[in-house]
Amino acid sequence: MANYTDAVCKLCRREGQKLFLKGERCLSPKCAIERRNYPPGEHGKKATFRRKVSEYGLQLREKQKARRIYGVMERQFRRYFTEATRRKGLTGTVLLTILESRLDNAVYRLGFADSRAQARQLVRHGHFDVNGRKTDIPSYQVSVGDVISVRGSSKESVYFKDRSQIMQSNRVPAWLNLNLAALSGSVLAEPGREDIEIPLNEQLIVEYYSR
Ligand code: SF4
Repeated sequence: MANYTDAVCKLCRREGQKLFLKGERCLSPKCAIERRNYPPGEHGKKATFRRKVSEYGLQLREKQKARRIYGVMERQFRRYFTEATRRKGLTGTVLLTILESRLDNAVYRLGFADSRAQARQLVRHGHFDVNGRKTDIPSYQVSVGDVISVRGSSKESVYFKDRSQIMQSNRVPAWLNLNLAALSGSVLAEPGREDIEIPLNEQLIVEYYSR
């Protein structure tokens, strides 16, 4: 599974846009993109004015961006792509649906965490049930009708007590329903293209893998 050891803000600076990897900080003036919006490294500033990016470069960057947003390593991302080609529908859209259906992403989208990375850690630490069964696999694919809930013992923790206060003002995407009193959420529908708010050109990703 994805474990980036490098400073995550560098990933945003490399892509030249906010990937929202750090939670609250991403919305504050401390965000590295607000302060230093040029690629990291010694020649980062100069790189901003470098030659035109090739078609391949654009496709590669879009794929990397999607991987980084969802915190997925290359091998798994490629597996998702292969799976997307097997399913019905537009490959790029299906790929995004698969990514968005990861349990760690659903936990993040329900508001139980500030970032996908934090959600991944909460899932790994066994704080969630899916349909009443402990599920600690961040890549678990949620399906329509699934109920994701904070486990009984975790509900009493300071983290989830504080979190439920923060979550009162949360906006949950249309494919999920949050039951704040029960600290649970249910999957109402498959996430669609319109549910992915971060600008991603999935067609470029399809082209990257179809070379
Ligand atoms: Fe990216 Fe968030 Fe860091 Fe800003 S604060 S550079 S959005 S991870």
